[in-house]
Order: sequence, then structure tokens, then C-alpha cells
Amino acid sequence: MNFKKTINEIKSFKDNQILTNKSILEQHSRGEDYYIPKLPDAVFYANTTSDIQEVVKICARNKTPVIPFGSGTSLEGHVLPSKGGISINLSNMKKILQLNPQDLDCRVEAGVSRVLLNENIKDKGLFFPIDPGASEASIGGMAATNASGTNAVRYGTMKTNVLGLTVVMADGSIIKTGGRAKKSSAGYDLTKLLIGSEGTLGIISEIQLKLYGIPESISSAVCHFDTLEGAVRTSMEVIQYGLQVARIELIDEVQMKASIKYSKLQNFKEKPTLFFEFHGTKQSTKEQAIIAEEISQSHGGENFKWAQKTEERNLLWKARHDAYYAALSIAPNKRAMSTDVCVPISKLAECILESQNDLASNNVVAPMVGHVGDGNFHLIMLGDPNNSKEMEKLKQINDRLVKRAIHMGGTCSGEHGIGLGKKDYLKIEHPTLIPLMQNVKKTFDPNNILNPDKIVDFN
Ligand SMILES: Cc1cc2nc3c(=O)[nH]c(=O)nc-3n(C[C@H](O)[C@H](O)[C@H](O)COP(=O)(O)OP(=O)(O)OC[C@H]3O[C@@H](n4cnc5c(N)ncnc54)[C@H](O)[C@@H]3O)c2cc1C
Repeated sequence: MNFKKTINEIKSFKDNQILTNKSILEQHSRGEDYYIPKLPDAVFYANTTSDIQEVVKICARNKTPVIPFGSGTSLEGHVLPSKGGISINLSNMKKILQLNPQDLDCRVEAGVSRVLLNENIKDKGLFFPIDPGASEASIGGMAATNASGTNAVRYGTMKTNVLGLTVVMADGSIIKTGGRAKKSSAGYDLTKLLIGSEGTLGIISEIQLKLYGIPESISSAVCHFDTLEGAVRTSMEVIQYGLQVARIELIDEVQMKASIKYSKLQNFKEKPTLFFEFHGTKQSTKEQAIIAEEISQSHGGENFKWAQKTEERNLLWKARHDAYYAALSIAPNKRAMSTDVCVPISKLAECILESQNDLASNNVVAPMVGHVGDGNFHLIMLGDPNNSKEMEKLKQINDRLVKRAIHMGGTCSGEHGIGLGKKDYLKIEHPTLIPLMQNVKKTFDPNNILNPDKIVDFN
């Protein structure tokens, strides 16, 4: 379809904010995923909520698809404009609108990144814990995918930490959901419905967030294991024991090898490893660490290696956050198909070990990282998107893994979302809910202009 009329109408009021040059279109043709890219017809850079509103009104009139674009770090074809249309880039919307230290909350524009937010609040002794590995991810994109990360085991996901939203709806109207109260029983929870809706129900322009006081004591430790099973069973037992770890991250041998090289880590071993972090008072972090070390040793873990100074800790977690790029560096011309299952903690070892056997019997090398305290792990499978045979083999491994996880009571996506790539698995996971989800979509977006093709098909 040709969207020239829409583009000309947008140009007539915001000429300098709409771009159609090839390099900009290419940047908005996919996320960090392995899908074959497709160009949008134009990219609009929004500066304000009313900019978004004006553009959505024009698109609604002309039935032109609108694809919200935060930082484009999503992994399942979320931002790929499969039906063309206007990509609305929110990266200029970077204001921290309100900071309320006494109430531990703030209001930000959608384009603020977690790193920018944390830089701006640390002098007040505050932090925002949700940390997807892509540090440039926008808070708007994180809300739209219900992102989490290494801290979720202690602090929850975006759903736990968003109090309210400002949203531009498919007809260009603006709604405000939630508020600043820490809890509310006021009617249907539209905030939570919009979180994780991947730009298919509305465009989020502002987000009210919960914040936390920086703990008195933070300590991080690394523990190497002889076997992957020992590391996984440790993480399960730590959670089952009820230890309040702030982070417990698994990195397998292949990923450790890649990370040691990529992040120039010194004194680390190419062995299955757990990264721990403990938050609390000096006394409580010490107590937690002693128990975690005892549990680790009972599963063949070595003595903990401590990173107590802020710089050492930052280095450690930067290496963890860079794990995806370290994995990509193994095969520079390939793209990553990242799996994202999440299972009940008691099933974690079984799920990981069966998946490792599947990789081995298919001769596929895939680094693995896991937010194991939540039962969530990623195989970073590397393939050439133009090599259909290779990609098919990886898809089959992912297919078996997702079905295994669902069979165990888990989910196809712990944190990355559905996008284009997991639509079939959503049908397997929630067959009876698909019609209801389609009705929700129709109610919010009757003409199917908001990020069409994602999450559920429109009937
Ligand atoms: C190296 C790496 C590590 C990662 N690690 C994690 C991790 O640990 N945990 C995790 O959860 N994810 C992780 N991800 C995935 C990704 O970072 C998250 O999904 C993130 O939340 C996407 O944010 P974004 O701003 O890049 O959104 P985008 O990719 O721009 O958009 C994602 C989706 O949200 C929609 N969207 C974006 N902004 C808005 C808005 N303002 N209003 C409405 N819809 C919007 C888009 O249309 C799209 O459907 C990782 C990705 C990479 C590349």
C-alpha cells in the first residue's frame, strides 16, 4: 500500500520531524532480531505527547499502520513494520518530568533509558532496578514488552514497578491510567493490560515508576562449578530456601569463554558459573552470602570470589549485560535467535539439561545465560538468516524447548515478549485466550493500525 497521503499530511505540520531517507528507514526496519528486515514508509520523531497524538490522528484517518519505536533492542520482530507505515521514534522524549524522593516514585517520558534515569536519581540515594541487558532500552519500550532482567528475582518486572501511564490511543485520544498510589483497587487494571502490549493497544508517552532506596550494603560474588547441573541446582535451592538474593545469574561454560574474551575478564574460569548479588544491611548481606556459599559448595561450587568495591561490581555486571554481544562475537556474520522460556523453579534443572542434550545431539553450539532465580534462561543460538537450512535447525530446537517448557507449566516468553516470532507459541500456551485477546485488540484498535501483525492476528 502507498502511504504518501499520510506522509504529506504529516509533513504539512511537522516537516522537520518526518524522515524518509534510506539509512533512517533501515534503522527502523527491524530490532536486534534475526528477521529479514522491512522498511517503514517514513519515520516520525516525536518530541511531545501531542506530536504523537497529531500523527496518530492522521494515520487513523488514512488507516496507516503506526509502529512505536523505543530503541529497537527487542528480539522477536516487535518493531518490524510488516505492513509498512509510519515508525514513531520516541527517543527525543527524554525528560524526567517529576522526581518524588519522599514517595519513592517518578514520572518520565517514554524515551528515557534506565541508565539515564539511574544517573539522574543516584544523588538522591535512589535507583530503578529493571535492567534488560540492552542498556539503551527505553522505559517506554520496557513497559511495552514488560521487560525484566537480572534484578527481577528481588524487585519484580515492569508490571510490578509501573504505577501509571499516559497513552495515545488508536483514535488519537489521550488517556491516563493508574496514579501515584502504591496500590489501587479502582476498576479494571488498564495499566497492567497496556504493559506488555508491544505497541498494539496504544502508544505510551509517559510512565510513573516506583523507585527504591540504594541499599546500605551491596555485595557481589562469583562462583564457578564443575558441572552445569551443580550450578542450576544451587540456584533452585537458594530460591527454595527463601534467600532474598537480589540477583542470581547463570552463565554456562560456552558463554563464560565468550565473555572472558569479549569483556577481558581476568581470573575467571571457563566453567559453569553463578553471579550473585546481595542487598540489605551489612549484617543481612553477610548472612545471606554465607548460606548461599554453603548451598553452592554442597553442589560442587568453588569458594566465592567477591567483588565488593563499586568498580569491581560494575565490571562484573557490565560483563553480564554484555553477554549477548560476547555471544555474537563468536560468529560475527551471524544473528542471534534468543530463546526465552521461563519454568517453575522446581523444573529448571530438567528443562535446562534436556535442552543442552538437544543442542549436543544436533551439534549446535549456543551460549546460555539465565535469570535462574526466576526460572528464566536464554540460549543464544547463532545463525545466518539467509541460510534457511541452518535457521530451520535452530527453529526446531527452539520449538522443542518452548513445548518442553509449556509442558512443564512454564511460558514461551519470560521477558522478551511475543512480537512476530512467538505468535504460534502463544496459541499453544493459551489456546482458549486467543479470541479474548483478539477482542481486546479490536476494542482498543478497531482498524488494526497499531503495530499490526504482532502478538495476535486480527480477524
Ligand atoms: C543485548 C540484549 C539484552 C537484552 N536483555 C533483556 C533482558 O535481560 N530482559 C528483557 O526483558 N529484555 C531484554 N532484551 C530485550 C529488549 O531490550 C527489551 O525488550 C526492551 O524492553 C526493549 O526496549 P526498546 O526501547 O528497545 O523497545 P523497542 O525494541 O523499540 O520496542 C519494543 C516493542 O515495544 C513497542 N514500543 C516501544 N516503545 C513504545 C511506546 N513508547 N509505547 C508503546 N509501545 C512501544 C514497540 O512497538 C515494540 O513492539 C535484551 C535485548 C538485547 C539486545
